[in-house]
Amino acid sequence: MSTADQANTTELPGTPTIPQVDQHAVKPNAPVVGKVHATYLCTASRKAAGFVRHIEIDVSGTELENAWHAGQSFGVIPPGTQSSGKPHKLRLYSIAAPTGGETGDGTIITTTVKRVVDEHWDTHKLLNGVCSNYLCDLNVGDEVLLTGPVGKRFLLPENPADHDYIFIATGTGIAPFRSMILDLIKLGMPSRIAMMMGAPYESDLLYDDTIRGWASEYDQFTYHTAVSRHLTPSQSKKLYVQDRLSEDFDQLGPMLASKRTLIYVCGIAGMELGVFQTLARLLPPDQLAQYLSLAPEIAGDIDNWERRMIPKKIKKTKRVFLEVY
Ligand SMILES: Cc1cc2nc3c(=O)[nH]c(=O)nc-3n(C[C@H](O)[C@H](O)[C@H](O)COP(=O)(O)OP(=O)(O)OC[C@H]3O[C@@H](n4cnc5c(N)ncnc54)[C@H](O)[C@@H]3O)c2cc1C
Repeated sequence: MSTADQANTTELPGTPTIPQVDQHAVKPNAPVVGKVHATYLCTASRKAAGFVRHIEIDVSGTELENAWHAGQSFGVIPPGTQSSGKPHKLRLYSIAAPTGGETGDGTIITTTVKRVVDEHWDTHKLLNGVCSNYLCDLNVGDEVLLTGPVGKRFLLPENPADHDYIFIATGTGIAPFRSMILDLIKLGMPSRIAMMMGAPYESDLLYDDTIRGWASEYDQFTYHTAVSRHLTPSQSKKLYVQDRLSEDFDQLGPMLASKRTLIYVCGIAGMELGVFQTLARLLPPDQLAQYLSLAPEIAGDIDNWERRMIPKKIKKTKRVFLEVY
């Protein structure tokens, strides 16, 4: 995981104050036991290319109860040992439940898990990711060892109503945005939100019905999907999530120009480069400076930017939040 969370030292207009939140109520050496409360596929269709589950876990009576904020993650310790004989390492999962959990009393924590399925690099045998498959195999009532919460920067600001939000997700990167949007809904939806979601196929869009529901219920909420591997009735060319920024710039341009707007990016490691390049192509220098500060030698050569230039030469400001893994 690389959370490039270095921030610019100069305070820009619209710079948010990030609340101080507690972490590590439950440490890895003393995990608590949660019980699976619900588990279901949350892809738009059962025929999706990937298997992704919404998993709710009851943490009542543990130190995790009511102990997290939207945007944080929790740890899962899968049972069993590695080939070395050592216990499996903890994996982190973004919290998809709002602050206060699914039922508002802090007892039900949620995440969104994609089964990792790959081919072993030596034996070319099927390799199932240890923790993601363990979690997705669990049934209601099964116990799971949990730690956390973790994360002190990928959060909503102190005064959420002072800002508007462009949330950009690929895959399970949607999890923290479900969490944050549910928090904003609890506050009466005081902000404009553009939810941008990228997936390989339309069938792999996550929480699609729920998000469409929010878009029809709230005028200030818009949903922008980008499907990268096939054409859809509403999409005549294949699009990555950053291409959606350009395609919908009529709508998103005024938001990007506003001092209220914060950009959050979560999902597949590497996605941030395309998002930053697109912002650099779309925005005039004074607006771009609200989100990125660029080393002079690369500013004019956007097509040749590389991921390794982040964060030294392509530095995000405090109005951009990044969590990729
Ligand atoms: C802050 C944070 C938040 C996260 N949030 C989420 C989330 O909300 N949802 C989610 O699904 N994930 C999330 N993750 C990722 C998650 O932590 C795990 O990394 C992921 O589930 C894979 O773990 P695993 O145990 O299933 O796979 P592992 O068993 O750890 O395998 C991981 C990868 O290693 C590769 N690999 C290992 N050994 C070999 C080998 N011999 N040959 C070939 N390939 C090999 C495989 O390609 C596989 O893809 C998050 C990560 C971070 C850091």
